[in-house]
Amino acid sequence: MFVGHLGIGLSLKSVEPRINVGVLLFTSLFLDILLGIFVLLGFEQVLVPENYSDIHYLHFSFPYSHSLIAAVFWALIVSVGAYVLLAKELSSKLKVSALLGASVFFHWVCDWVEHAPQLPLFGNGSSLLGLGLWNSLEAALVLEVFLLIMGMALYIRATKNISSKAKLGMVVFMCVLSGVAVVGKMSVTQAPDQLAIGVSMVVQALVVCALAAWIDRPRVKAV
Ligand SMILES: [Zn+2]
Repeated sequence: MFVGHLGIGLSLKSVEPRINVGVLLFTSLFLDILLGIFVLLGFEQVLVPENYSDIHYLHFSFPYSHSLIAAVFWALIVSVGAYVLLAKELSSKLKVSALLGASVFFHWVCDWVEHAPQLPLFGNGSSLLGLGLWNSLEAALVLEVFLLIMGMALYIRATKNISSKAKLGMVVFMCVLSGVAVVGKMSVTQAPDQLAIGVSMVVQALVVCALAAWIDRPRVKAV
């Protein structure tokens, strides 16, 4: 899931409009950024199934970024980190840090819905979790597009007092990203190599977050 995570990040803008959406997208993609880093470091692996050209999804060995316990751990780390770094009044710090931590854990919930049972409970050899929506590529794409449309709608509603130009820029940016992701998912017949996957997971997420932050920047007060 990539497009769906973007939708969740956009949606959370409606909970706390003062947070730049680039930050919300970063925390929503945080587990995949960790996965990319851990793949590059050799701690986690992306496995290419023999029938990849038919099923269009990879298999993962990712206990440190995507096990249930790891997701809770990283959500707490992000929450505590945000709380320590933020220089706002107590109530706002609590709300913002809780929201950012929740967005990290939401990522795991979305992956749990889509992945075939391959999300470990706590580490290699533990129970594998996942509802397997990916087994129906069309259903998975419908869910992702739904989450994105919901996210854009909530984002637009949460930022109704800002310029329509920037608002339109965000919608166009997200639509282009989604189009590329959906076409790529449907048309890929050969699995990319592991290094390319690791690099693209990190670079793609950081570029998307930076561009979204730039579009959102003129409209909001900094957190
Ligand atoms: Zn993920």
